[in-house]
Amino acid sequence: MDYDFDLFVIGGGSGGISSARRAAQYGAKVGIAESWTLGGTCVNRGCVPKKLMMYASRFPEQFEVSTGYGWSAPKSEFDWKHLITAVNQELGRLNGIYESMLDRAAVQVFPHHASFLNAHTLDVGGQKVTADKILIAVGGKPVRPPIPGIEHAITSDDIFHLEEQPRHAVILGGGYIGCEFACILNGLGTKVTQVIRGDKILRGFDDDIRSEIQAKMIADGIDILSETNIKEITKTDSGIIDVCLIADGEEDHILADVVSLAALGRKPNIDNLGLENTQVELAAGAIAVDKYNTTAASNIFAVGDVTDKINLTPVAISEGRAFADTQFGGQSRIVSYENIPTAVFTSPEAATVGLTEAEAIEQYGEDGIKIYRSRFRPMFYTMPDIQKKTLMKLIVHQDSDRVLGAHMVGDDAAEIVQGVAIALKTGATKANFDATVGIHPSAAEEFVTMR
Ligand code: NDP
Repeated sequence: MDYDFDLFVIGGGSGGISSARRAAQYGAKVGIAESWTLGGTCVNRGCVPKKLMMYASRFPEQFEVSTGYGWSAPKSEFDWKHLITAVNQELGRLNGIYESMLDRAAVQVFPHHASFLNAHTLDVGGQKVTADKILIAVGGKPVRPPIPGIEHAITSDDIFHLEEQPRHAVILGGGYIGCEFACILNGLGTKVTQVIRGDKILRGFDDDIRSEIQAKMIADGIDILSETNIKEITKTDSGIIDVCLIADGEEDHILADVVSLAALGRKPNIDNLGLENTQVELAAGAIAVDKYNTTAASNIFAVGDVTDKINLTPVAISEGRAFADTQFGGQSRIVSYENIPTAVFTSPEAATVGLTEAEAIEQYGEDGIKIYRSRFRPMFYTMPDIQKKTLMKLIVHQDSDRVLGAHMVGDDAAEIVQGVAIALKTGATKANFDATVGIHPSAAEEFVTMR
């Protein structure tokens, strides 16, 4: 049967665009539907604008450091509107790049919502479009738990469009997004209260890393309310947000001038896709796929956050490329989910690859692993006499000497751990680390000199 397209991709984010371009490079006729702006969460309301705002938030510390090197402290004022306008201009530039990349790859872009009419037919903005293969790459969206008044809380999607800088922000949640925005807003001068239901931020990360970041965030002035639950959020007539909290059975109230930011997790964005018109199956609210990203319907595939595996942009891109190589490039490629590095752009930054100490103990027992830790003040902070520490940690398998996990909190952690991740991916041992000559003077050399 003749179809309009060999591949039709629903969703123009990281996973969708990488799949579409790769399939088109193999000669497939490809269409893509994106009802919002090209680039998806990462480019428009995630990694990219967040990192730009993070850069902005780190200048006050740099100004302070500079005085230790002979500069006089600059008189500086921060202009929120300037930042938000500049960030959105940059996003516009990136959207344009995506548009021209797809154009050059001869991928036809439909600026519409798409939903299934049957396994090979989609309704794309009211137009019927058929395709041999269809890829679902629609990503995720913020979870809004059933907390009374949660509609008064903005999400990280909205923060990039706030016209005024909040004086006091209450951030709900202690995961990636909550912690990153707590640090960004704090660095920009907003008073930040972060509410977490556990005892520590960043559940799932290595415990030393969690403690190190949390202590520094508190030292930097962020008020972290741990073991605290959110009872209710109300909004007064004057626009003040009242967050009612419960800790130890006691109620307390925090008033935020404008913003209560809910960063309480994300979920697959599967609404209104017409999945009921297909054989596609779900598992725990996500699209269920096999290792080739094939759904229960053999011509329908899914990549990225909609499958809720490891919700990171580079993972979605890898899945998209592996899918296209397999379906259109005559290869058989699957993504390996082992040793995926990740970073949290808090201040201080953290990056990690491999097992946490707790995970390593669970797999190999306490006697089965060796821990190497180094905590030091980087040279950069000595002359200004700033008490800012870097923490590095290696977890090593006792019997094989293989490095199971590498963790870091400190400046440039993401840049440094990216390289260390290659070593872990190739099965490096502690002896290999030790045999590597360090780059001196650097913080990174500590990874190859730990005793
Ligand atoms: P996370 O899953 O990382 O964290 C959610 C937080 O909300 C946790 O602290 C969780 O607590 C808390 N929480 C969840 N439900 C409730 C509730 N009902 N009441 C109170 N607290 C609650 O989600 P995020 O929204 O921070 O981020 C979503 C995903 O986005 C991440 O998992 C990551 O994959 C991706 N991301 C990656 C980034 C990066 O690579 N740098 C940056 C930003 C996002 P508890 O721990 O107790 O469950």
